[in-house]
Amino acid sequence: MLMLYTPPPVDPKAPPVRVNLLSDTQTRPTPAMREAMARAEVGDEQVGDDPTTNALCERVADLLGKEAAVFMPSGTMCNVTATLVHCRPGDEILAHETAHIIAREGGAHAALGGFQVTQLPGPDGQFTPETFRKALHPRTRYQPSQTVVSVEQTANIGGGTIWKKAALDEIVAIAKQNGLATHMDGARLLNATVATGIAARDMTAGWDSAWIDFSKGLGAPIGGALAGSRDFIDAVWQWKQRLGGSMRQSGVCAAACIYALDHHVDRLADDHANARALARGLAQIAGIEVQEPETNLVFFKPDGAGVAGDKMVAALRQRGVMLAMMDGRIRACTHLDVTAAMIEETIGHVREIVRGA
Ligand SMILES: *Cc1c(COP(=O)(O)O)cnc(C)c1O
Repeated sequence: MLMLYTPPPVDPKAPPVRVNLLSDTQTRPTPAMREAMARAEVGDEQVGDDPTTNALCERVADLLGKEAAVFMPSGTMCNVTATLVHCRPGDEILAHETAHIIAREGGAHAALGGFQVTQLPGPDGQFTPETFRKALHPRTRYQPSQTVVSVEQTANIGGGTIWKKAALDEIVAIAKQNGLATHMDGARLLNATVATGIAARDMTAGWDSAWIDFSKGLGAPIGGALAGSRDFIDAVWQWKQRLGGSMRQSGVCAAACIYALDHHVDRLADDHANARALARGLAQIAGIEVQEPETNLVFFKPDGAGVAGDKMVAALRQRGVMLAMMDGRIRACTHLDVTAAMIEETIGHVREIVRGA
């Protein structure tokens, strides 16, 4: 019997969480968002008859500059259905070695599609256009067909870093020259657009498929939306149906997403300011190594200050601050439910824990 262990995010014996920096998925729907959900006009999404979901899809298609979009229960389903449409069994996907599709989707792309992912190296969760070009091989009967290149905007494990528009454009150009499709995992795309002032549709220009997640910093309880050409979205719909992702009165959830687009996008700048404040405060503690945040994710290592990462995580949890290790570093995530005062409190706790070590 295979045993799969996922650490519980909540330790029942630990003191209550006062500062939740674990993930931007931890945001709770606000009272105003819940009101919008309660008021939503609904129908049957599976037959295209839910007006609120349809309105959301039109809005996302426009936001991302694509012909059509489809509402999904999760970002993972956006990634999985996209590769299932772009690729055939045995095909090769090119993505950064830290990509969510490789390590955090239960092997879905291999299990459901029979695809292999070539892992491209590079600092901060990004590969260069040159690295991508070098990984391409001629089309021969010996080698797998390289059918899609995927990037994360922002790069999660890379530190929430923002792909430069010039690099995105160059990757699109190389992909087109070589007959590959392009896919953008935009779980935090709107963090990138708020941080740079570059419109989402400009970031996704030339990308065959792109999606945004509503359940992260945007604060909705559920959902992502995947956009592309009308034909692409038609094919995605068939996979959504096959995977059991077709919904019914999904307008209740779509209303939260529309509310988030109206009220929670510009405020992502506050999360970025809080992330910078946290990084600045941590960097002032001798021995703590901090990656300069570009958006809402702060990665740091306290080992140089005499406290191992997992010990720091446990000590902070005892003081009511929740965060976690991610790929060898501590990740702190700022979001809707994190205030500037909570950031100051967290820095104070880290300072005391280091002093006591
Ligand atoms: C969270 C995340 C996903 C998956 O989104 P879910 O809504 O949690 O399924 C995919 N890619 C990246 C980069 C993410 O951070």
